[in-house]
Parts: sequence; C-alpha cells; structure tokens
Amino acid sequence: AYRRPPPDPSCLVKRPPVVTVMGHVDHGKTTLLDALRHTNVVASEFGGITQHIGAFSVKLSSGNQVTFLDTPGHAAFSSMRERGANVTDIVVLVVAADDGVMDQTKESIKYARQANVPIVVAINKIDRPGADVEMTKDALLANGIQLEDRGGDTIAVPISALKRIGLEALVESIVLQAELLEVSADPKGPVEGVVVECQADLNRGILSTLLIQRGTLKKGAWLVAGTAYGKIKGMLNDQRSSIETASPATPVEVFGWKDMPSVGDLVLEVESEKRAREVVEYRQKKLELEKMKDDLK
Ligand code: GDP
Repeated sequence: AYRRPPPDPSCLVKRPPVVTVMGHVDHGKTTLLDALRHTNVVASEFGGITQHIGAFSVKLSSGNQVTFLDTPGHAAFSSMRERGANVTDIVVLVVAADDGVMDQTKESIKYARQANVPIVVAINKIDRPGADVEMTKDALLANGIQLEDRGGDTIAVPISALKRIGLEALVESIVLQAELLEVSADPKGPVEGVVVECQADLNRGILSTLLIQRGTLKKGAWLVAGTAYGKIKGMLNDQRSSIETASPATPVEVFGWKDMPSVGDLVLEVESEKRAREVVEYRQKKLELEKMKDDLK
C-alpha cells in the first residue's frame, strides 16, 4: 500500500539481475552457490570466514554482475512471493545429469512458471561417470522446457559445481537472459526493497541484508520494515567492507535497526523518525485488530 506507482520508463537504469537457485534435493544447489561465491573475480581473501548474509554478487571479467540469493530452494522463493516481494528475475534450475528430472525439479518448473520468471538450466554433475546430458535434456523437454538447442529459447549450460566447470558460462548465460529481459530499476527517490536475511551481531546490533529494488540507500536513512524501524548507521557490501551507498539489486548489510525485521519484509524509506514511528504504530494497531478478530472467531 505504501509503494510508489511504477517509475516512468525514462528513469530506468540497467541493474544486475537477481537469481534464485532451485532444483531437486542433492542435485547440487548448495555446492553451486558455494562455487559461485568463489567465482567472484574481485573477492578478497575473506573466504574462510564468510558469514551467511543471504545474497552475494558475482562480478565477471566482462564487467557484468549477477546477484544470487543465497538460500536455495522454493521455500525462500515462495515465502518472498507470498509477501508480494517479487525479487527474483531469473531461476537457475539445477538438474543433476546422473539423476535427471525429479519431483522437485518439476515443482521448481511449476513455481517459476507461476511467477512468470524465466529459467536458465544448469545441467550439473557432468563430471560423474553416470552423467548423461542428452538424456537430461530430453527429460527437460518432456517437462515443457523448450531448450535452445532444440528449437526453444531456454538456455542449458552443462556444469560441474564440484569441479567448478562451466560456471563462467553459466553466469554469462544469466547475463544474456537478463539483457533480453532488460532488467532495470529507478535509482532515485525513497528506497524500496526487501529483507533477505537478518541476524544479531555482537558489535553492531541487528544486522540485516537487504536487496534494494528502487532508490539508492545512504547512511542516515530512516527505514521501516514490517513493524521494525531504524536509522541506517552503517552499510557493508557482500565482502563486508564498509560502503556509503547501495544501488538497486546489490546486496547490502545494514545496521541501525531498533527491532529485528523479518525475512521477506518489504523495506521502505521514510523521511523522518516521526514518520517511521507513525507507520510502525499504525501497523502494530492493525496487527492487534486482526488478532482480536481472529480471537473472536
Ligand atoms: P542440494 O541438496 O541441491 O543443495 O545439493 P548439494 O549441493 O548439497 O550436493 C549434494 C551432493 O552432490 C554433495 O555430496 C555434493 O558434493 C555433490 N555434488 C554437487 N555438485 C556436484 C558435481 O558437480 N559433481 C559431483 N561429482 N558431485 C556433486
């Protein structure tokens, strides 16, 4: 209800695509996300102590950038969508070449379809003796995935997440898909975004990872998320370096919240603390009213 009307097309600027990794259990989603986190060509040697921050970006040598949501599976995908946060531009569907299309592969296809999000297929585990890429493609086709090399427009990239084969090609395919979609955002005006991760930090208090969808976040901004609010005291990028601004689709960790927001909450920038309090109080009252109504039932 608080969201601004869509921006004028002339205000839109290209941004990195936001990707969710889905697929059947054990087909390699977690391994792929781990491998991609290390593909980052500008990643400093933070490797050993990487903390889960909910999203990270991969920067390619071509200069292109892709943002990955760091929570595999459709639970995260649908919980965000339920709250009206359509953060995902592209689904990477991981299918193990030695196992083929399974139940959760089909479910993932269904979810992506319902959300109207295009799929890029990662045919994983090609290093395994039992891997059969052609058979996997046939199975995908049988499940309605129109693959590019079979006359359709869905890209499939053979990879090994474990041996780190084909990862650059996979990310470049995502970039290509994003260009076709013309993913863009309005970098001006009050910030709108989504909470993708939240945790308590000994030094900084409540830390939350946000995905900015609109506007550019700056230190000192007042944010509201659900019934939580706060003034942004500091921001970190996915390498945990301090940054001054965060633009659309780049993951950013912020601190300064007075209470803990929830994952999936929409984030809105308001002009003052007074306004932040008003919004939060209104929402709390509304929640109390709903609870009273439920109790009367
Ligand atoms: P998830 O359940 O989809 O997240 O799957 P995981 O990433 O946990 O992987 C399941 C198992 O498959 C693990 O033992 C991985 O080491 C293994 N695995 C994942 N990717 C590959 C791959 O490319 N090649 C091989 N040989 N094994 C893989």
